[in-house]
Amino acid sequence: MSRENNKFYITSPLYYVNDVPHIGSAYTTIACDCIARYKRLRGYDVCFLTGTDEHGQKIFKSALEQKLLPQEHCDFITGKFQELWKLLNIKYNKFSRTTSKKHELIVQEFFNVVFKRGDIYEADYEGLYCEACEDFKSEKELLDGKICPIHKLKAQEYKEKNYFFALSKYQDKLVKHFEENPDFIQPSHRKNEVLGWVKEGLKDFPISRQSVSWGIPIPNDSKQTIYVWFDALLGYISGLLDDTENSKVENAIKKYWPCSVHIIGKDILRFHAVYWPCMLMSANLPLPKKVFGHGFLTKDGEKMGKTTGNIINPHELINEFGTDAVRFYFLREISFGKDGDFSRDNFINRINSDLANNLGNLLNRALNLVNKNFNGVIEEPGLDNILSLKEKTVSTINNFESHMDNLELKEALDSLWQLVDATNKAFNNLEPWKLIKNNEKDKAKCCLYETLEILRNISILVSPFIPETSLKMYNQLGCDRLDENNEWKKVGWKKLKASFTVKEGKPIFPRVEEQKSN
Ligand SMILES: [Zn+2]
Repeated sequence: MSRENNKFYITSPLYYVNDVPHIGSAYTTIACDCIARYKRLRGYDVCFLTGTDEHGQKIFKSALEQKLLPQEHCDFITGKFQELWKLLNIKYNKFSRTTSKKHELIVQEFFNVVFKRGDIYEADYEGLYCEACEDFKSEKELLDGKICPIHKLKAQEYKEKNYFFALSKYQDKLVKHFEENPDFIQPSHRKNEVLGWVKEGLKDFPISRQSVSWGIPIPNDSKQTIYVWFDALLGYISGLLDDTENSKVENAIKKYWPCSVHIIGKDILRFHAVYWPCMLMSANLPLPKKVFGHGFLTKDGEKMGKTTGNIINPHELINEFGTDAVRFYFLREISFGKDGDFSRDNFINRINSDLANNLGNLLNRALNLVNKNFNGVIEEPGLDNILSLKEKTVSTINNFESHMDNLELKEALDSLWQLVDATNKAFNNLEPWKLIKNNEKDKAKCCLYETLEILRNISILVSPFIPETSLKMYNQLGCDRLDENNEWKKVGWKKLKASFTVKEGKPIFPRVEEQKSN
């Protein structure tokens, strides 16, 4: 890898701070963290940016309701996000806040550049606006021409003199960009959705508000603030600045821009796949390489909502089952990009069958036999491939790699667990405990060595998903984690170890015993 192409810049959305983080934000951030950890494993120079989007009327109102100043409210909610990311073992490099001074300076600089380019003009706006979406709606998009289908709120009549961004000017350029970069929007079914919008014709949209005070002032016009989306998207750039750097766009973009992938929920696809690239084209900045819109979560097959009361509280889930269980479930159960469901029964089944039984038991049984019969030490044996899993291990690693590179996180885990299942089967068929009894010690040693070797590989490969458990496995196998970056060089059949000196086997994942109510 050359120095240039070993950079990987991934972002989560900047989460809106009108409320404390919910399970949907947690899911997105877990997925980003998993991808970032995988890239670090592969030796990339990774920048993972998350953060909060803190302006707009909704936030101003939330603050008022709590009898807080808007900034106090933002600080409080942002703290809640940071707290949850810590609990979920999210290893981000940058936390971008749109109320930071450096962000304000970047947004105003950007505004001025686009203004000078002739892409911002003043005009009257009249139309319908959903305050919850912070977005304009055409009558066609609304139920009965009035109600926002996402929020079930009546869209407001809106009339103001505003600054407009000349989005329509970029229609052809954007279509051309989609054609030349077929992977720009993923998964592919989302691309068709976006192409549909673009074909209807891009309309210029207002990027300022007279009525919103909680925002970044328009340069040289203090009566208006910048529209929250025009502001927030630039958080992906301003957040890259170190605190010591001069708040200039050219400084912000010099190391990691353009972004390798923006991971977002499908509800904010239009902003990222249409508005954002056109804004960047206007400012003559490179476009992100990829926008990936994942699906929504349901609970027991139903949409989650405060009104229905079927919300999953991420803190309760972590308290009850632990961080790795939560990370594992969502990444294992849901095809990344598609909608997915949470149910408690499914959750417990997944943890018990995949982590406690298939993986945990195999490790435990192998370690116990090594400790009991060979004083904890297994040398690399003279025999080879007694489990007949050498080829499968190698192909699993290759499959895992290509799935991860395509952001197919669930499929990557599927391939790992096929190897875990196959190893369990081969281990049971060989019955190493009987080989020991029958004094076929070489065969027994070979069986154990190869089982440990497969588990060693798995402990590295699962580390982006379940980092704590991975480390426990690693330690019990007697391996040192020398360097979290570039650990990939240790992946492979009989790659490093001439022998294993293992530790005592302790269950890495205790079974969850469901307490039946009545
Ligand atoms: Zn809405």
